[in-house]
Amino acid sequence: MPFGCQMNRSDTERIRTVLNGMGYSESDDEKHPDVIIRGIVACSVRQKGIDRVYGRIRNWNAGKAGRPEITFITGCILPADRDKFLKLFDLVFPIDQLPRLPDMIRQYGVPTPGSLRPAGEDGGEASSAPVSEVSRKTIPFEIGAPEQGEPGREEARERIENFWRLPPSYSSEIEAYVPIQNGCDKFCTYCAVPYTRGREVSRPSADILREVRRLVEKGCRSITLLGQNVNSYGLDKKGSELSFPDLMRKVGEIGEETGGDFWTFFTSPHPRDISVELLEVMASYPVLADWVHLPLQSGDDEILRKMNRNHSMDRYRQVVQDIRRILPSASLFTDIIVGFNGETVGQFEHTADAMREFRYDMAFIAKYSPRPGAKSAGWEDDVSREEKDRRFRRLGELLQEVAAPENQRRVGTVQRVLVTGKDRKEGYLSAYTEGRIPVRLSVAGAAGAFEAAGYIGSFVDAEIISARPLSIEGRILSGGRG
Ligand code: SAM
Ligand code: SF4
Repeated sequence: MPFGCQMNRSDTERIRTVLNGMGYSESDDEKHPDVIIRGIVACSVRQKGIDRVYGRIRNWNAGKAGRPEITFITGCILPADRDKFLKLFDLVFPIDQLPRLPDMIRQYGVPTPGSLRPAGEDGGEASSAPVSEVSRKTIPFEIGAPEQGEPGREEARERIENFWRLPPSYSSEIEAYVPIQNGCDKFCTYCAVPYTRGREVSRPSADILREVRRLVEKGCRSITLLGQNVNSYGLDKKGSELSFPDLMRKVGEIGEETGGDFWTFFTSPHPRDISVELLEVMASYPVLADWVHLPLQSGDDEILRKMNRNHSMDRYRQVVQDIRRILPSASLFTDIIVGFNGETVGQFEHTADAMREFRYDMAFIAKYSPRPGAKSAGWEDDVSREEKDRRFRRLGELLQEVAAPENQRRVGTVQRVLVTGKDRKEGYLSAYTEGRIPVRLSVAGAAGAFEAAGYIGSFVDAEIISARPLSIEGRILSGGRG
């Protein structure tokens, strides 16, 4: 089960492949399974995510009751948590060691559904060592573990490329997440990623493009390319790999060659490095969606400097101007952290000003959470919880204020939207626009509850009839299979 971001969801799809390959299947019925494997793909970006992991594993361990059961944790794990997890989980491993998971499980001595014989009967070794011993002996946890030393870049590359070669078991036929890069070299002072995922490694473009082409041929409608810092794509290969704009151009060409009807998104670009060339490539190919997720983090130059973001607000403003000029209909999403160390009320107000200036369509707002090992964890976390709450609420309200008029302007227009499933509201469908604005859809003239279901997975034209601050509601006019 993934905790956190889209990268974790993508990791989970490869974990599913490995476990299915061993004969395990997903089940909600915990009453009489032969063996249970429970896993977590952790997210260390905020402490809240890690606190949830501790809650979950304590529950799992309390219910183990002597049955064959293995728990594992992988994903983004900080060294400080890794040592604690080793005492709580049976297996703790970095995600690039996933290809070894079958060996780890076998070494652990649990029967696989393929054999369904007790451990040791087939001559294999059943381990009687305490859980944490097995974990320590068999599973090196090296990324970001200073006492073991980081693997060299080439070794890290080899491991992650082996991981990427595992075919994902996609969670959806309509929407797919395709990793293009792992790790990050930017070392923002608040961020766990360089310590949990290691240094930047780019996935070979030939593999990415093969996966994209296959998805398009299977009728996938929405493809999101994932990396922490996508503009740096290819740079670690020192001239022997495509640049990010060239990679996007190739995806655009796949659209032209196949006549495929799909949207391609990517996240996240870094404001320092996003280029006019990239925006121009996006403008040139219809399958490259008009959507930019441009993390702001703070609207104050001094805070940006303390965060080691390596760009000024002037630079950010320039990028937004380029986006508005080259992709005038693009929607703009962002990430913001409130209450970073030492953030004064005045500095927070600069972030509020930025929200008004850039008129985001969506912002993922986070309260600053010190991450052990990241540089800022050594500084005093001096904005009180109440004040972080206040800034969080204030920015949330402001987001609604700036986004609402944009959504109101969409009322009366006809938008092409992708229908992704049934809406929470009975009898409606959920969809989103090319700019990832959520849409609730009714089907004009559809009598029954779910004649509408034939539309799921299709692009349709919808007349927008009303707007809420962060979403719109529409009526299907045409399109789809229904
Ligand atoms: N690479 C992206 C970038 O450059 O902005 C961000 C990736 S980060 C994994 C996802 C988001 O989590 C960040 O944009 C930030 O808003 C949030 N985040 C990261 N570290 C955080 C922390 N220590 N406290 C609160 N939020 C944090
Ligand atoms: Fe973290 Fe900064 Fe890298 Fe984004 S760019 S993943 S915030 S270190």
